[in-house]
Amino acid sequence: MEKRTTRSHYKRIGDKLVDKVAYKTENEALMLARFLNTRPEAIHKMVAYKCIKCGMWHIGGNGTVLTKEDKEKIAKKLQTIGHERRF
Ligand SMILES: [Zn+2]
Repeated sequence: MEKRTTRSHYKRIGDKLVDKVAYKTENEALMLARFLNTRPEAIHKMVAYKCIKCGMWHIGGNGTVLTKEDKEKIAKKLQTIGHERRF
């Protein structure tokens, strides 16, 4: 099956393309992506990527389905760098 990647500056809302939220640093985007990945309602893995259009960092799903084990692993990672948490 083909993996869908959304490494775009835009996100689609209905039939419109809007600017994605941009983060100045990889760390900021990464932390938020990890946080989103640990939510119970999270289905697809969110990743941080550098945008070729604006040079900032965005978050997007990479088409991978998160397993319970994935979520636990990510949650542990978040805990070990807890001093950086801002959520
Ligand atoms: Zn961008």
